[in-house]
Amino acid sequence: MSTINIAIIGLGRLGMCHAEHVASMPKVKLKAAFALDDEQLDLAHSRFGAKPYKDWRMMINQENLDAIIIAAPTAFHPEITIYAIEHGLNVFCEKPMGIDMEEIEQMVTTIKSRPEQIFQLGFMRRFDPSYQEAKRMVISQELGDILYMRGYGIDPFKNLKSFVNYAGSNDSGGIFLDMTIHDIDLVRWIVGKEPVEVYAVGNSLAAPELQKMGEFETGVANLRFDNDMVATLVAGRTAAHGNHVEFEIMGSKGWIRVGQEASPYYTTLFTDKGIVRPCMQSFPERFSEAFKAELQAFIYAVSSGKPNTVAAEVEDGRAASKIARACQESAKHHHIVKL
Ligand code: NAD
Repeated sequence: MSTINIAIIGLGRLGMCHAEHVASMPKVKLKAAFALDDEQLDLAHSRFGAKPYKDWRMMINQENLDAIIIAAPTAFHPEITIYAIEHGLNVFCEKPMGIDMEEIEQMVTTIKSRPEQIFQLGFMRRFDPSYQEAKRMVISQELGDILYMRGYGIDPFKNLKSFVNYAGSNDSGGIFLDMTIHDIDLVRWIVGKEPVEVYAVGNSLAAPELQKMGEFETGVANLRFDNDMVATLVAGRTAAHGNHVEFEIMGSKGWIRVGQEASPYYTTLFTDKGIVRPCMQSFPERFSEAFKAELQAFIYAVSSGKPNTVAAEVEDGRAASKIARACQESAKHHHIVKL
C-alpha cells in the first residue's frame, strides 16, 4: 500500500481526535489542516506536521491529496463534500450529512455520480464490538423475533452550559439530527428495516433558554416499523454521572443490552459510601476504539478502492437524516409523521 495523503477540515472536539488517529497510522500522511482558530492550527502543525490553511478550497486545490476528513460544523458538510468529490477526492464526513434536506440530496447526487471515489459517513458505533455482537445475535436469530429496541444517548450535565452557548451561535440541526441520529442509524443497521412512522416529543426543562432557539434539551422519538416493531430513542444532555450511551434489543428469546452501566473499566470500588463503578465522561472516551477503527476502515477502503462493508454509506446517511428530520417535525407540531 502506498502512502495516503490526507487533510482534515475542522479541528474542534472531534477533528483533533480524528487528526490524532490518522497521524498515528502507518502509510498515512496528514499533510494539511483547515480550521478557523489559529490555536487549533498551531497545535495540528506542531503535533502532526499538518500544513495550516485558513481557506479549505485553497487547501484542496494546492495539496496533492487522496482523501479528506470533514469535521466542520454540520451545516458545512454538503458544500465541502461536493467540492471535494468534484475535485476527485475520497471523503470521510462526520455525521450527520447536513441540515438542509435539499443540500443533502445534492450531496447524494454528486457522490453517486463518482462511484469510484470512497464516501464514508462517521457513524462510528457500527465499529464498536458490542454493537457488532448485538447485530450478530439478531441476524443469527439467537434473540428470537425482535419486538422492541431502546436507545439512550445522554451527554453529561456538566456540558449543558457549553452546549447552550454553542447553540446560540451554531445550528446543530436539533437534537434528533445531532444526537438521536446515531441510534436511528443503529436500529436501521441492526435489524435491516426502515421505520414507517415516527412520533417524537421534546422538552427543555433543564435549559429553558434552548426553547427560544428551537432546540430541545431532551428528545424522545418513537419509531414504528412495517412489522409493528417499535424503537424508543432518548437523547439528552443531563446525565449527572457522565456520558450515558445505552442500547437494548428485546427479542422473544432474550434481550441484549449494550453499555448498561456506562462504565469503561472492570473496577468496582467498595467503601463506606457504598459500591461505585466509574462512568464514562465523554464520547471520545466511550468510542475511542470505534473512532480509530472507522478511520482505519476508511484508509483501507481508499487504498483498495473498495468501500468497507460495515461503514455507513451515502444512502444510510440520507435515510437517517430523513428519519431524524421527521422526528424534529413531529416534536415541533405534535403529530405522527409518516415516512
Ligand atoms: P467544534 O465546534 O468543536 O469544531 C468545529 C471545527 O470546524 C473548528 O475547528 C472550526 O474552526 C471549524 N469550522 C468552523 N466553521 C467552519 C466553516 N465554516 N467551514 C469549515 N470549518 C469550520 O465541532 P465538533 O463538536 O468537533 O463537531 C464537528 C462535527 O462533528 C459536527 O458535524 C458534529 O455533528 C460531528 N460530531 C460527531 C460526533 C460523533 O459521535 N461521531 C461527536 C461530536 C461531533
